[in-house]
Amino acid sequence: MENAGKEKEMEELKKECIEFCKRHPLYREGTYSVFGEGSLEAKIMFCGEAPGLNESLSGHPFCGAAGKILDELLESVGIKREKVYITNIVKLRPPNNRDPEPDEIKEFAPFLERQIEIIKPKIICPLGKYSMKFLMEKFGLKDQIEGISKIHGRLFESKSLFQSITIIPFYHPAVATYNPNMKKILEKDFKILEKFKQ
Ligand code: URA
Repeated sequence: MENAGKEKEMEELKKECIEFCKRHPLYREGTYSVFGEGSLEAKIMFCGEAPGLNESLSGHPFCGAAGKILDELLESVGIKREKVYITNIVKLRPPNNRDPEPDEIKEFAPFLERQIEIIKPKIICPLGKYSMKFLMEKFGLKDQIEGISKIHGRLFESKSLFQSITIIPFYHPAVATYNPNMKKILEKDFKILEKFKQ
């Protein structure tokens, strides 16, 4: 798809998502739906779980404390944020930042699926166990799912859909906001992305 075509399709999908969000029980007056942002030509896509407070007040994914860690991790491997695409499975903030529920993941999944179809990334990096589980199941890797503490930083190749795609699950960057050892693990895991830099 030409870039102009992609832009139009993504813009339409975003509008659809905003309308969907306005009718969703997680919607709160005065907050934004956090659709996702970045390059539509991205080779690497990151997918978190759901927006937190800062994200829901600004409309931008990963712009709070976890976002600061993600920015540092990207910088540590020389990847510019604007070269990748960053989104979440659930596009509205769950109350008190609770984990997304299975029904919410199911309801919002079509938006993420269509974002993936438009961008066609070569690599998708789930951030945290919920997006890891969702994306590995979606890409036919269900039988390889283990706890995030076992499979973080590992490459999983999938050839089940429109193209071959590599899934690389990472711990959610929020874990490093209260545990500096986790930041080291994340930094080590992110090194794998150096060879896929665009
Ligand atoms: N945590 C997430 O999973 N996503 C965000 O956008 C911010 C924090």
